[in-house]
Amino acid sequence: MPKPLRYAQALRYNRQIVLPQIDLDGQERWQQARVLVIGIGGLGCSAAQQLCSSGIGHLTLVDEDIVEVTNLPRQCLYSDQQIGMRKVQAARDRLHAINPECTIQTLSKRADDGLLQALIPDHDIVLDCTDNLQSRETINAVCYQHATPLVSGAAIRFEGQLMLVDPTQSSACYGCLSALMQPSDLSCTEAGIFSPVVNMVGAQQAHIALLYLINQSPTQAAVLHTYDGRSMQWAQFTIPTNQHCPVCQGKQKENT
Ligand SMILES: [Zn+2]
Repeated sequence: MPKPLRYAQALRYNRQIVLPQIDLDGQERWQQARVLVIGIGGLGCSAAQQLCSSGIGHLTLVDEDIVEVTNLPRQCLYSDQQIGMRKVQAARDRLHAINPECTIQTLSKRADDGLLQALIPDHDIVLDCTDNLQSRETINAVCYQHATPLVSGAAIRFEGQLMLVDPTQSSACYGCLSALMQPSDLSCTEAGIFSPVVNMVGAQQAHIALLYLINQSPTQAAVLHTYDGRSMQWAQFTIPTNQHCPVCQGKQKENT
């Protein structure tokens, strides 16, 4: 049973609690929830801010980078005075100022397999806010191994994409999606990124995670949501399971 909210908390979150889909019960579940955010760049800043201000009880932030001047146009938790600081420390300071009741654990480390194996089983949901394919595939594999749900987000130029991966269902995983995509080594450094798009995708990752945690998921698993920021159009595609996917199909074979 979730711990009841104190009066001050009920007051703070009143505009959410009055929504019947959330109610006191949903707010109490958020207070008990542990969410892992991997990568505190444009996606992670936006997602972590929404999760923290909405009342998630525990956030773990993982990122090995430091704040650079080129981050500031889109990475909304950082200020000019924080250039040169570890991103996780700068993000924690800002998030504590927004909501001191959120417990924030920070790891200024690379999210490799060993670290993910230690962290993921200890969290209710994972947000992949990284910017490279290798990290995305490792996060997907470890989430699958521990049956932990994952919200994957990505943004480049004016384009964004989102997908919920739920290992408890027999739907496609991120590996199935990446097998369909053209290999590309382009990063935001070379290709550019429009700040409102990356912030919106990060906020949408938090949106999916918050509602998933109270059994109100706004999307089915394995549905890819793509956003075109030049026309403001969303599109949805159901990703088929790749019969040769070593992550989700390997797991299914183990279970049969
Ligand atoms: Zn798969």
